[in-house]
This record gives sequence, C-alpha cells and structure tokens, in this order.
Amino acid sequence: MRGFSTNAIHAGQEPDPTTGAVITPIYPSSTFAQDGVGGLRAGGYEYSRSANPTRTALQECLAALEGGRHAVAFGSGMGASDVLMRVLLRPGDHVVIPHDAYGGTFRLVDKIFTQWGVEYTPVDLGDVDALRAALRPTTKVVWCETPTNPLLGIADIAALASVAHEGGARLVVDNTFASPYLQNPLALGADVVLHSTTKYVGGHSDVVGGALVTSDDELAEQILFTQNSVGSVPGPFDAWLTLRGVKTLAVRMERHSDNAERVSELLAAHPAVSQVLYPGLPTHPGHEIAAKQMRRFGGMLSFLVVGGRDAALKVCAATELFTLAESLGGVESLIEHPGAMTHASVAGSALEVPDNLVRLSVGIEDVEDLLEDLRTALGTVS
Ligand SMILES: *Cc1c(COP(=O)(O)O)cnc(C)c1O
Repeated sequence: MRGFSTNAIHAGQEPDPTTGAVITPIYPSSTFAQDGVGGLRAGGYEYSRSANPTRTALQECLAALEGGRHAVAFGSGMGASDVLMRVLLRPGDHVVIPHDAYGGTFRLVDKIFTQWGVEYTPVDLGDVDALRAALRPTTKVVWCETPTNPLLGIADIAALASVAHEGGARLVVDNTFASPYLQNPLALGADVVLHSTTKYVGGHSDVVGGALVTSDDELAEQILFTQNSVGSVPGPFDAWLTLRGVKTLAVRMERHSDNAERVSELLAAHPAVSQVLYPGLPTHPGHEIAAKQMRRFGGMLSFLVVGGRDAALKVCAATELFTLAESLGGVESLIEHPGAMTHASVAGSALEVPDNLVRLSVGIEDVEDLLEDLRTALGTVS
C-alpha cells in the first residue's frame, strides 16, 4: 500500500491519456458525446450532474486518503450531510448528534429533518455511557465529530462504533477538524466519514466543498443515487481546486500541528487565559484517546479569556495576523468568538458555548510571528 502523500499526489491522477497533461484537466462539459444511443464512451460519462471526470479524480483521491472503497464529492459539506441524512433517516427515526455539533449540522437536523418527523438527542459523545443511555430502538444514526467544534472535545471512535453497532445504528464521523491525514475513522469502525473539504482538505480558503467516504457498496450506491436526484454536486473547477489543495495536505497538517502546539503552550502559561482546549495538551481530558486515534493533534484550538465576554471580544479585535473570520483549516490563521459568530444561532439551546470562549484556526505562518501577535492581543486585557 502506498503512503499518504503519494496517494494525495497520485491517486486518481494519472497523466491525461490523450495529451500527457500531468495535472488532471478541468472538464467544464455538462454533457458527453455518445457512440450511438446508449453507447457511452470510455469512463461512462453522460451528464455532469451524474458524473464528471475532474470530480472522479477527486473522489478516487479522497477514497484512497480515508482508506475507503468509495468517495462522493459534494458542492459543500452541508450538501454531503443533507444527502447522507436523506439516505439513512426516515420519519420516526432517531439520530444522536454531538452536544457541541457543528452549528450547520445542528440547524439541518433541528430545523429541516424534524419537519419530516426525525427525532434527535444532543449527547456528549466523549462519554460512551451517555451514548448507550441515549440509544432508542429507533436510533439509526450516531453522528459524531472529533475533535468537536468549538470545544475540542474528543470522542473514542472505536468505542462509539461498537456501542452504535450493538444498538443497530450506524456511526458517521465528521472528520473535518482532523483531516484524513490525522485520523481515519473507517479503520476504527465508522461506517461513513464526512468532510467539509472547504477546510483542511482544500486548505486555502478558496473553495467550498464536501465529501462522503465509505466502504459499504450498497450505501455508496444509495448516496450516488440520492445525490444525482437532488443535484448537490461540485462544479469541475471546484473539484480541481480541492484536488490541487489536497496534494499538500500532509505537509500542511504537520505545520498546523507544530504551530498549534506552540500556541497552546503560550496560552496555557498566560495570565489572561483561564483554560486552553487543545487535545495535544496532556491536561486535556481527551488527550490519551486523541493520542491513540490521531497521528497528531491538529491546528484547531480554543481558550477561555479571563474577564468574560468583553475581554474575549477585545482579544478577537486586537490580533493582526490572526484574521477575524469564520471558517478554518486554511493556510492563514483565523480568530473568532463562537458565541457571537459561528455559534450565535445555538444560543439558548443545549449547544450554547461559554461567552468568554475564543477559537483559533492556527495557520502555517512563521510561529514566532503568531506567538507575538497573540501576546500583544492578550496584553490588551491583562
Ligand atoms: C464547515 C463545516 C461543515 C459544513 O461544511 P460546508 O462546506 O461549510 O458546507 C460541517 N462540519 C464541520 C465540522 C465544519 O467545520
């Protein structure tokens, strides 16, 4: 079996057979010529909602990176989530979601799928017994994120898979925060892996996309059928940009992890910070499990600021290199206040987050510059 970076650069990306182009071409063709009625040419392409060669290259690459038999690329992470829920859930079914689920996932379940009679329970999936207690005879899906957003909680994927399977449910892992370089949930027993490729997989904050990866042939067929029915596909240029980004995923994740480790140490020792949430810190309650199931600890980190909401907002406004923005996983460092930004919509719900919480997406700039930026910003409140 080839190594991760070899797959990132070569899987699904043979030189173009007609021209020798080393880089996968962008095929902006909505339709494909047929040799007589029903006579599809090599590759079987017919119409680009159903399949497109640039998208196929991306899908083969992502399947190799997650160690799955099938990958399906989508126009966004939420497009992927929507199709997966349509495939796995029926009226009357129950789904368990993380108690600090990605806000868009919570909204999709709480505002859309409940309209079709789907029931849900938010659970702290860091606690396997809590999952066991939440399972019902109608539970079809356990939807897990690890590390979670924005609290960086860690769930034991192998343990959740066995509890979910005992209960007759499937385990879906949203692997966006870890990326396929740091964690491969299928190998740990998950049934489906979901990515917002907008984040680390694309890695340059220049394209929105999503993907599902599974080794279940029947499930893959249902996903493709549903995607083709509802149309949530990425365009060929988006697929190409994502493929271009993914080639450097391994080197980027190493640098993200190096930088976030240094940032976590600075914050842990700073008087203006009361708590650092980073699974790489030995004091993090999920550290052992993260060390077991992740290659490294990644670039996402949150912390609590002494002085409450106002101090947290002040820190967010004071950084220069850390740009105040939503999203994550790009080469540039970002800072945000989840309570007022990404997680504003969950205020008052079970998913509410502390109002002195600040989230960082630590980029791959020179770490000394990042540390200096944070020291200066924290200096405005301490
Ligand atoms: C961004 C994100 C999503 C949604 O993906 P989009 O590409 O924005 O639609 C889902 N899960 C997690 C953890 C995310 O960070």
